Amino acid sequence: MTDQIASILKSWGEPSYRLKQVDDARRSGARDWDDVTTLPKDLRARLAEVAPLWTVTPDAMAESRDGTIKWRLRTGDGLAIESVLIKHARGRRTLCVSSQAGCALGCRFCATGAMGPGRDLTAREIADQAFLAADVAREADARLSNVVFMGMGEPLQNTAAVFDAIREMHSPDGLGISARSIAVSTAGWVPGIEEMVAFEVPVRLALSLHAADDDTRTALMPINNRWPIANVLAACRRYADRTGRRVFIEYLLLDGVNDSVADANRLASQLRDGRFHVNLIEYNATTGQYRGSSPERATRFAEALQESGLHPSFRRSRGADIAAACGQLANTPA
Ligand code: SF4
Repeated sequence: MTDQIASILKSWGEPSYRLKQVDDARRSGARDWDDVTTLPKDLRARLAEVAPLWTVTPDAMAESRDGTIKWRLRTGDGLAIESVLIKHARGRRTLCVSSQAGCALGCRFCATGAMGPGRDLTAREIADQAFLAADVAREADARLSNVVFMGMGEPLQNTAAVFDAIREMHSPDGLGISARSIAVSTAGWVPGIEEMVAFEVPVRLALSLHAADDDTRTALMPINNRWPIANVLAACRRYADRTGRRVFIEYLLLDGVNDSVADANRLASQLRDGRFHVNLIEYNATTGQYRGSSPERATRFAEALQESGLHPSFRRSRGADIAAACGQLANTPA
């Protein structure tokens, strides 16, 4: 994502192939302007004075027993954000990117929510997380195959930057990641879902639902006061109809909070129209206020969904030992 660099080069009257040289160098692992040896030396020096080659810089890194890598990255103004690279079979890697430095939505189970609001990241800051991860994957003979917006922040509060970053990740001149391999996860920011309906790249949409009734959901996620379950599911249905892709429903299983058979039946009754796929997620303790469901309760919940005609998947937590799993990103020391 070299939009700033593109406009600088243009304003200096440089030929358009200079930008391609910069992009190629970034894709081949250049870390600063001195590494972009295809550019004339004086041009590199002038660029170094006005713009960084990368907008985020790795600051600390931790690797989990399961191969998951978590980075703490610094923005140019010194904010710390995190992204997480998850290892899969056959050399595939999924990157979980941050879209804001902090989050204002205050979901009760989330470490990022406990940090409070931070600023929106720019398109370059978001895309640079993916370009850096793609580089690291390549060095390990692997491939960045998927990107999920499940890191710090609510991506649909920052749609202009998120959409630009997605265009760059999806473009054959960028990272060439297919639309179906990019997922935007929202807590239920309905105006942003409506913007996604009009967005030209048909990425996957995931809704963090986490409860089957409004009272429980409001207690877990204050955003539900503004857009209750029926409103947010209606917006998701419009997205499913526009793209022909099922919307993922993310459901954290919390012991005694949302994991009864009655909860499962209530959930199923709202999602039986073929437009949704339910992912059940193991909970990773962050604040101590909630506990994950026991394997027995989780299995019973899943069976109740099955009996109602839904076929949920279980999402195992990855990187829990380094606080890199869902709900755990909060600039913990890497
Ligand atoms: S779960 Fe997502 S939307 Fe909710 S507080 Fe955490 S980062 Fe924000």
